[in-house]
Amino acid sequence: MAKLIKKPISNLTILFLFSILIPGFILAYFSIQTIANQKELTEKKLLEDQNQSAKEFAEYFEQNLQNCADEFFQNADSLYDKTCEAFSSINTMAFVSQAFIIDNRGQFIYPHYSLSTTLKPKHGKSSEFSQLISKAEKFEFAESNLKAATQLYQDAIKISKNKTEGATAINGLARVYVKRNFKNQALNYYRILAARYGSIIDNTNLPFAYYSMHQMIQMSFSRNTNQLATDIDNILSLIIKGQIVLSDNTAFLLHEIEQWLENQKEISTNLSQRLSQKISSIQKLLFFVQYEGILLQQNLQNRYHSTAIPRLGQFLAITGKSENKPVLLIFKPTSDNFGFLGFQVDLIKLKEQTLNFSFKQNYSFTPNIEIIPGSKVNQMALEPFCTIKELSPLVPWWRICILPQNTEIVNKYISRRRLIYGITLTFLITGMFLGVVLVLRDVSREQRLVQLRSDFVSNVSHELKTPLTSIRMFAETMLLGRVKKKSEQQEYLSIIVNETERLTRLINTVLDFSKIEKGKKQYFSHPANISQVIHSAIDTMEQSIKEKGFTLLCDIETNVKTVADSDAIEQAVLNLLSNAIKYSNNKKEISVKLWAENESIFIEVVDKGIGIPESEKKRIFDKFYRAHIGHKKDTGGAGLGLTVVKHIVDAHQGKIELESRVGEGSKFTIIMPQIRNNNEGNK
Ligand code: ADP
Repeated sequence: MAKLIKKPISNLTILFLFSILIPGFILAYFSIQTIANQKELTEKKLLEDQNQSAKEFAEYFEQNLQNCADEFFQNADSLYDKTCEAFSSINTMAFVSQAFIIDNRGQFIYPHYSLSTTLKPKHGKSSEFSQLISKAEKFEFAESNLKAATQLYQDAIKISKNKTEGATAINGLARVYVKRNFKNQALNYYRILAARYGSIIDNTNLPFAYYSMHQMIQMSFSRNTNQLATDIDNILSLIIKGQIVLSDNTAFLLHEIEQWLENQKEISTNLSQRLSQKISSIQKLLFFVQYEGILLQQNLQNRYHSTAIPRLGQFLAITGKSENKPVLLIFKPTSDNFGFLGFQVDLIKLKEQTLNFSFKQNYSFTPNIEIIPGSKVNQMALEPFCTIKELSPLVPWWRICILPQNTEIVNKYISRRRLIYGITLTFLITGMFLGVVLVLRDVSREQRLVQLRSDFVSNVSHELKTPLTSIRMFAETMLLGRVKKKSEQQEYLSIIVNETERLTRLINTVLDFSKIEKGKKQYFSHPANISQVIHSAIDTMEQSIKEKGFTLLCDIETNVKTVADSDAIEQAVLNLLSNAIKYSNNKKEISVKLWAENESIFIEVVDKGIGIPESEKKRIFDKFYRAHIGHKKDTGGAGLGLTVVKHIVDAHQGKIELESRVGEGSKFTIIMPQIRNNNEGNK
């Protein structure tokens, strides 16, 4: 094998290798760092996602509240000037737990409420009416002349000029009937009093409705139960609508009704349920006025003392607790600056609606969002990957609590990332090393080729020089007339011819190779008799074979025909024969065989020469490659003979097989398809 001149690797190669290796190692280092820090990075990412989603959620919450307030005030402004009844319709709005209007002194306009001590009868009474009533009361209370009193109250009804007078007289009449035990009449008048004069206030600062209802309940008997329940239902409706004022006596009245209801079996469940509902609605109103009212009044006083009140956009807000329950009131000054109107937010609905929220942004870890009370913060904070944030200053008792939908997802995310980085890193490192190996291999291959080329030049020069020297020497000897014998002259001339043929073969091989290298080598196929081609090659070499003392055994099947470039095939056989001669020692025996079998043609050249080591078998077909360098049988050569043979065989869709054992000889077999049709043309 050729001895390589170990050139140091060029600077450019080193630079190139470093330009792969240094960035590669830096990249690998950071990838390993990233893999190692994946847990921290993931948790950081999770935290960022959670903070961002909490922000998005809090914004949505305030926006939701703002939208609701906008809608409320749009409706409320248009209803403000109207009656309490009209205004009460606003309570049906979603989020509105209770609408309200208060005046500048903090008194409720809606829900319609007054302390009994502050109520004033709307109308005064005429002196004629007052005298009549005084007289009637005197008969009723002082003289116990109930009959006369009855008459006088009836007269008073007749001369009554306004609702206050009418109500006072009817009330007196009904009372006398009670005392006289005229239940039917009494009830009739109380019903009239409740229905027509319910909202009027009597001398004891009580709406007549309260008074009449109390009386009717006291006198109730089984036959009028349903009638009474219906009357009560109507009166309760009037209270809810605000037509009958709520007062500090209302609670007592409701209690009385509830007790009465409990004992009434005749009333239909429908009606009884309706009554219960109305009672609880009124209780809610009372509760609101009493508790939230206080909160409102306190805060408004603060406002006058210029303590800042939180705001929702352009609206004012009060946030606090009443009876330990969170309360949020949103309000604004009325258009006439008479007071304020607003509403208590239905926090349960607000919470439900807000939780229906879906995120606009895409988060790597879909957050599970909850609204939790402040008291649960410590407990929730123990949950893994839990983030707790303020929701809004308007609802300070609530917090946003964000958890990943599934804690496993975090671990999965980490291992997925690690896997991706790991695989990429493995690819990177493998690619890097593969690159380096390939570069080094290419470099060494290139170096070898350079070496082979340089060997080739000296080999060819040598090959050309040797025959030329002999030709010149023998020709000169003959020219000087030193060779007298005819037989000697013949011998000299034959040597000259042989050497010329050798030169021609060498030059042909080099020229063929040069064409092959340039891709210009063409083969001209035509119907060819391969038997004749082999014979022709043998003939060419016969002289040289015999002179060198070789025995040639031929087994050539006759008339083996195919379509092929006969010159090229002959060239291939010549190269094989020439090698057989070159690489034989003492056993000078060459055999050539040709036969056709199974649509294939077999050409076999066998020698008993020095053989080819196993390790060289593949490479001897490479260009410039020469085995046996330095071997005593190294006859010199260009390392191109087998390269050309292989190219010719490939061009004929054939293959070349080699069997060889060192010291025993070599067998080259060309196998190519036998083409029977007679097409001519290029291959
Ligand atoms: P060259 O003969 O000019 O060196 P070739 O391409 O014909 O180039 O052959 C390549 C190498 O294969 C030879 O150098 C020789 O070592 C080996 N070789 C070829 N034919 C034979 C053979 N018949 N017996 C032993 N070695 C051979």
